[in-house]
Amino acid sequence: MKKLFLFVMIGLFLLSTLMIAEEGKQMISKETIAKVKSSLLEKYGEKEKFRIEKGVEQAASLWIKEDGTVDDFIQFCGASFVPLGEEFDAIFARLERDNEIINGYMTIITQELSKPIDLDWGELLPIDTVFASWSPAAHISDDFFNNKIAFFLRLNFPYYPLSEKTKNEQKWNSKDWAMARMGDGFLSRVPAEVNLKWQQVSTEAQAYIYDYKFYLGKLVDDNMKTYFPEDMVQISHWGVRDEITARYKDKEGFFKQKMLFALMHRIINQEVPEVIINKGDYYYNPISNKLYDKDKKEIELTREPDTRYAVLQKTWESVTWFDKYNPELNTHIKRMFEAAREIPEDVVEKLFIDVISSKEVRETAKYIEKQLGRELVPWDLWWAGFTPGGDIPEEKLDKIVKEKFGNLEGFEKAIPDILIQVGFTPEKAKFIAEHVKPEAARGAGHCSGAAIKSAQNLLRTHVPKDSIDYKGFDTAMHELGHAVEQTLTLHTVDYYALQGVPNTSFTEAFAYLFQDQGLKFLGVASEKTDKDIHIKNLATLWNAYEIMGVSLVDMRVWRWMYDHPEATPAELKAATIEIAKDIWNKYYADVFHAKDDSILAIYSHMICYYLYLPDYPMGYVILAQIQNYMEGKNIADEMQRMCKVGLVTPNQWMRNAVGEPISAKPMLKYANEAIKFFKK
Ligand SMILES: [Zn+2]
Repeated sequence: MKKLFLFVMIGLFLLSTLMIAEEGKQMISKETIAKVKSSLLEKYGEKEKFRIEKGVEQAASLWIKEDGTVDDFIQFCGASFVPLGEEFDAIFARLERDNEIINGYMTIITQELSKPIDLDWGELLPIDTVFASWSPAAHISDDFFNNKIAFFLRLNFPYYPLSEKTKNEQKWNSKDWAMARMGDGFLSRVPAEVNLKWQQVSTEAQAYIYDYKFYLGKLVDDNMKTYFPEDMVQISHWGVRDEITARYKDKEGFFKQKMLFALMHRIINQEVPEVIINKGDYYYNPISNKLYDKDKKEIELTREPDTRYAVLQKTWESVTWFDKYNPELNTHIKRMFEAAREIPEDVVEKLFIDVISSKEVRETAKYIEKQLGRELVPWDLWWAGFTPGGDIPEEKLDKIVKEKFGNLEGFEKAIPDILIQVGFTPEKAKFIAEHVKPEAARGAGHCSGAAIKSAQNLLRTHVPKDSIDYKGFDTAMHELGHAVEQTLTLHTVDYYALQGVPNTSFTEAFAYLFQDQGLKFLGVASEKTDKDIHIKNLATLWNAYEIMGVSLVDMRVWRWMYDHPEATPAELKAATIEIAKDIWNKYYADVFHAKDDSILAIYSHMICYYLYLPDYPMGYVILAQIQNYMEGKNIADEMQRMCKVGLVTPNQWMRNAVGEPISAKPMLKYANEAIKFFKK
């Protein structure tokens, strides 16, 4: 599940993307810039040449009429440039402290005000969404341009685009990196009202998705027979997908899966009756697309009017508002890949295609067909027979979890023991546990990280009221991985500016590593045998195969939206379905013996999470690399060593961690070994 803070903090100190003052508003001429540079050079000498050149250019690019006259600018630069040395170091240390205070408390305000929406607090009040969509940090950028702090930073901390960071990544030390990260801030002058408007759209889109639930007990077949417990409600797509996965051991499982799969297609096609979304008053046959009233009499159906795609389009539109402040990274796509992920889009795409077109995927499909005793059907994308616990019925796992923890508070108390089992010392386990607070989520799970050392990481998982089930525990284990990473990277990096990991894929890798420990902690998975390791490696490849396709759809749909700014929601729907089918036909149809399936468009993330999806498969790739490295080593020790490096480029982080840059080769290599093992 996603780590929430990435978007909450746009506009804050460290996380703003590359942007400059709106074109046409710059007022400092080339001549003035040259004059300021040469006077600073004269004063401080050649050794400061690089910083002076970059700093003056950058400060000038942001200076507008409201900031003062040209003379004011000249004076400001003369008085504010600080040469490297003792005074600079003192200022740098102070900025680090200030930064943590601002980031930390703004995050706390946002987290607290969003609790009515994020947590399972029952009925929402109308004012809840208003407060949740209000951003206390929205005016920081304006304020810091007004008091010139932003100009001070631009003048003294050069910004390095991805290409320059890549060039320097192997020779920079942690201080160099921390200074470069300081240079990533205040590159934009996005007006506060634009940030606020964007925040509102984002909150509304998430509210739409988190309330998109279905009463599965009301699904019927042609004979009006129901198949799911009367009170079973699942969110799309997460819960519905998990229900498909859970039905493999069930006598009527195949038909139940077929029904749920049909429901998913009705959602993608927006043929789903509006009245069954989040309501249990009607019966619905998703295969025949027929709607019935409470007396099971067929009634006329009004479909959801392409709302799904209208919401997606609105999220796209809301980020295009930032484009014009950013001549270099002038699309959300570029900002996500070049600035947020720091891996170019074409590199990510190629990596995915290498994996999904591989012979290893086809061999794995044959292995699954052997296990199932039949040819694959499209929903076998979600086959879960790989996990060592896959043989244990969900009901039994629910019972074990309930007995072990009782409820979420019980899970909270068990966190130190879980951490000790992973390999942390009791002291370290206690320290980390003190920084993690489990809470019952309204929607799917997530981990909302702390940004100040005194705060806790909020671990959210969806659990039944005052209870806990296996799904809730499994998610909690995943989120615990995020929380541990966040605690370690906040508390052990050399500089606050380096807190975190290079992008969300890395935190997902740690999350999966922890999720893997879940069954072991429940005492239902034996110690690793060769077979288990091979199964796990096949599972990683299969999961990556699924989500890489989903991510490629997400990426191509975003390109399509940029290419078709005037499209209607209906046109966006048609394009999305066509893109999903195209990717399916190229890389999935041969494996599942079916053409033209659009299922890769079902993910909810695509609708409200702004191109976040590619982080999941990147996570698998990174996970395979890290897991392979971890085999036979102490996870806790290695994780502490890896997390200490902090926010360098992804490739450099990986070099530090395992001795090699990011690559899908380990994942394919281990799948290959597994295939050989099972052929024996
Ligand atoms: Zn996650």
